[in-house]
Amino acid sequence: MANDVWVYIEHKDGDISPMSYELLGIGKTLADGLGSSVCAFIIGEKVDDLAKEAFYYGVSKVYAIEGDVFKGFRPDAYAKAASSLLSKYTPEIALFRATSQGTDVAAASAAQLQFGLCTDSIGLAIDGGKFKMTRAAFGGNYTVTVVNEKAKPQIATVRPKSFPMPAKDTSKSGEVVKETFSIAEADLNTKILDFMKSEVAINLVEADIIVSGGRGVGKPEGFKMLQDLAKVLGGALGASRAAVDSGWVAYEHQVGQTGKTVKPKIYIACGISGAIQHLAGMRTSDCIVAINKDPDAPIFKNASYGIVGDLNQVVPKLIEKFKSKLGR
Ligand SMILES: Cc1cc2nc3c(=O)[nH]c(=O)nc-3n(C[C@H](O)[C@H](O)[C@H](O)COP(=O)(O)OP(=O)(O)OC[C@H]3O[C@@H](n4cnc5c(N)ncnc54)[C@H](O)[C@@H]3O)c2cc1C
Repeated sequence: MANDVWVYIEHKDGDISPMSYELLGIGKTLADGLGSSVCAFIIGEKVDDLAKEAFYYGVSKVYAIEGDVFKGFRPDAYAKAASSLLSKYTPEIALFRATSQGTDVAAASAAQLQFGLCTDSIGLAIDGGKFKMTRAAFGGNYTVTVVNEKAKPQIATVRPKSFPMPAKDTSKSGEVVKETFSIAEADLNTKILDFMKSEVAINLVEADIIVSGGRGVGKPEGFKMLQDLAKVLGGALGASRAAVDSGWVAYEHQVGQTGKTVKPKIYIACGISGAIQHLAGMRTSDCIVAINKDPDAPIFKNASYGIVGDLNQVVPKLIEKFKSKLGR
């Protein structure tokens, strides 16, 4: 239907990124508000198995474009395919994850369709028949609500972990609508020559536990200690921009306004003062534990638990305790 809500299904190495299911949940809520349906759309080399997974999370129709050209993520090919689907079916709303892949496809599709785009939304609602998208502004100190009345579809990227995961029901099935879309190699600007996994292969955005370090860590070796704590807890390593700018840790780890936005169950901030640009990327974490030697550090105002002390003494004790408690 023309007022359906469409969700872009992101996948990598043959697996759907679980956060795409989160979008199917909020997509269903929006569709209920519009009296329409939530549908998924997916682009890839082969998508049958992936489409089946989407049915388990409440969609009854998946629009799919398949082809060799979609082997590996090629932003220009995916965006051209996505915008062709969106302009053909003109759903009311199209949702993408606010990840590098989702943002890439959403932004290029919006540009090709000449529509607006609300990036990094944290609130989505149908209110008085209008689709309202809320996002953070000014380093997270304010929120703005955007209505994009002239565009159809209204496109938003959604910050991961902003909405509850829908329940999985493996008895569900549905219809895959396969669309043909051909594109010549000559029309593409990118080609994948090789795929090299980053040595710091991390998925900060989806991690449930993050141990993050700032300028207070003092040296690159300090991050080895934080990495050890993250490993014991089965978590990922984060960092403030000050630590990244000092060259102690790679940019992929940066959390904040110009880094990644995260919402883990536990965020352990070590030697991080709590500048608004850092808070913008982690303040919605379920539980924030701050370790800082300055009792007046602003991070303590946002922390669920605060430890005033030298991280070089506190962190090794935590590693030791968690190792013996968790048997690792
Ligand atoms: C446009 C813009 C975008 C930005 N984007 C980001 C961003 O994405 N992410 C980000 O993080 N920042 C960002 N910043 C930078 C931000 O303003 C701060 O400068 C930065 O977050 C500070 O990092 P920090 O807390 O590690 O360092 P500091 O502010 O220097 O704090 C270090 C803390 O460590 C404590 N400490 C020192 N030694 C120890 C010890 N041994 N044990 C325990 N505690 C100790 C100190 O008490 C202090 O509180 C941005 C800035 C701008 C202008």
